[in-house]
Amino acid sequence: MNIRPLLAAGLRKAAQRIDDRERSESPEPRQCPICGYEGAFEPFGVVPRPGAMCPNCHSLERHRQFKLLLDWTDWLPPGCSLLHFAPEGAITRLVRPLCEEYVTTDLMRDDVDLKLDIEAIDLPDRRFDRVICSHVLEHVNDIAALGELHRILKPDGAALLMVPIVEGWDTSYEDPAVTGEDARLLHFGQKDHVRRYGRDFRERVTRAGFELSEFAVGGADSVRYSIVPGIRIFLARKPADRPE
Ligand SMILES: [Zn+2]
Repeated sequence: MNIRPLLAAGLRKAAQRIDDRERSESPEPRQCPICGYEGAFEPFGVVPRPGAMCPNCHSLERHRQFKLLLDWTDWLPPGCSLLHFAPEGAITRLVRPLCEEYVTTDLMRDDVDLKLDIEAIDLPDRRFDRVICSHVLEHVNDIAALGELHRILKPDGAALLMVPIVEGWDTSYEDPAVTGEDARLLHFGQKDHVRRYGRDFRERVTRAGFELSEFAVGGADSVRYSIVPGIRIFLARKPADRPE
């Protein structure tokens, strides 16, 4: 039996129901912190997430959470140099105007300023004030990558890290015997992921020499700005040099 047409029809129906609910029963309109739009948001995603997309600027939940971080914290003060791994246009548009120097990088893509391997970054020590590294570490040797991020940051510099985490697990799940796209999809949730993180992600970051803080958006604000509840942005700071 071919279940694909049934699945497709089911997804369409679910998307319509979510869309209807968003428009008719939403007790309060959503607000977009990026463009200022107020009103119903649109569902978005392969399995549609209600209210995921701002219909005016097309921002998604993670873009709005990032904007709230910029608005509510001093993570990115004026005058910084920033290196952005695997850049997304929506985040680039927010960050570039705030930076003194803004550099994009990716190992595979051609539409970036530098082709850098995050496991062996071809840059001098203490080169950047800030790094953005969102949904990269679950694809690579993260111990090597975190060490390299620490090396290229200036003292008192900081990296913004986002990874998918299973908060119910003490320990990350990784197994070098799991290779190939199908096996990785089954074990790690995506064909090019090499692990699923548990709560010990934090220890991996601090073992690389960082001090860690976390940014999450609370319940009411998650509704107002349509943020996925409970998603953490990890802020890893390289301690300042001690005076001699
Ligand atoms: Zn918007």
